[in-house]
Amino acid sequence: MKRVTILGATGSIGCQTVELIEAAPERFETVALTGGRNVALLADQARRLGAKIAVTCHDDCLAELEQRLAGSGIEVASGDAAITEAAARPADLVMSAIVGAAGLVPGLAAIRQGATLALANKETMVAAGPLVLAEARAHGATLLPVDSEHSAVFQALVGEDRDAVERVILTASGGAFRDWPLERLATATPEQAATHPNWAMGQRITIDSASMFNKALEVIEAKELFDLRPDQVEVVVHPESLIHALVGFNDGALMAHMGAPDMRHAIGYALNWPERRDLPVARLDLAAVGSMSFRAPDEARYPALRLARRVMEEGGLAGAAFNAAKEAALDAFLDRRIGFMQMAQVVERVLDTMSRAGALRVDSPGLDAVLGADAEARARAARTDLLTA
Ligand code: NAD
Ligand code: MG
Repeated sequence: MKRVTILGATGSIGCQTVELIEAAPERFETVALTGGRNVALLADQARRLGAKIAVTCHDDCLAELEQRLAGSGIEVASGDAAITEAAARPADLVMSAIVGAAGLVPGLAAIRQGATLALANKETMVAAGPLVLAEARAHGATLLPVDSEHSAVFQALVGEDRDAVERVILTASGGAFRDWPLERLATATPEQAATHPNWAMGQRITIDSASMFNKALEVIEAKELFDLRPDQVEVVVHPESLIHALVGFNDGALMAHMGAPDMRHAIGYALNWPERRDLPVARLDLAAVGSMSFRAPDEARYPALRLARRVMEEGGLAGAAFNAAKEAALDAFLDRRIGFMQMAQVVERVLDTMSRAGALRVDSPGLDAVLGADAEARARAARTDLLTA
């Protein structure tokens, strides 16, 4: 039996993880489930999987969670510290599926108990890649990517000589606005940005796909996870989302990973690793697919990709600041305080001011420095003239 904990169980990735575990009760035992305000769903999941503990990050949701799990024998708790404590409970695999930088500290707790960390939460690697890798080495923890592109790269690298890798190519669907004229993007609303052409995902990552902030995070995540130079990570727009990533080798070979755009593949691969098992995902009929297309990303349309290059070149705390400024800019867009194209402007201004102040130049930052840069970037984002005007 694999003992599994799911951080962010009530979200898009979390629910699909629950579904796969529920389908194989003989192989998985659930330790902890965590969620937010959707306490009814969290309680239901905890009962169905027979979890030992259910935790909500909101203290004001605890009474309802307690009431819903009364008589079940399932422990309940609330707050950020309780989520981190749940992540530290002995488990073989911890699914990191909280959205945003809030996933970092609980993920580190899972690593420190030596668990295999299945990383859907890309923000963990963007904000603190080197620290996370060092902790994983120190505690004998394994990191398994769950982001579809990174799972694809991981799978393409099995049995290969890492020194033979020349480059990694991440595919991008182009998001909701890929066919909009550039001038129209400034008028895009949160509702329009929150519909994805190919993937069903949480609201925040769907909007990040439309702006390609998601791909920007993924480029940095790939550099950190696979120990690549910035110039070794490329992005190509592939509207069909059937190839998830490619690895290029020094003999010119390109190994592509293909499949239906369904996160249950990457989630199931991580849950079953190092084995492969049957998964309930559609099988591709290539003759029906017919053809696939590729094009270079347009940097005027997707300034986030240029910012990702800058973050990788700056290193230090740039990733932590970039991600936090992006989260703050996304909040402002969701509140209609800024337009769609202004998100990148907010992020760039935060990077500019922190860089000029020397706040990003820190070698091998520890957790306190990462959290400090995160908080400073959010505060600076709130103070940019775009948001105070
Ligand atoms: P989601 O919004 O659907 O779910 C997020 C989960 O995190 C929920 O359970 C929520 O209650 C919890 N949560 C939110 N804020 C929290 C906080 N401050 N503290 C503790 N818990 C909190 O998100 P999602 O789409 O499932 O994405 C989760 C992560 O996986 C993100 O990092 C995302 O980038 C990544 N990811 C998602 C997909 C996808 O298909 N959804 C694909 C690749 C990567
Ligand atoms: Mg992805």
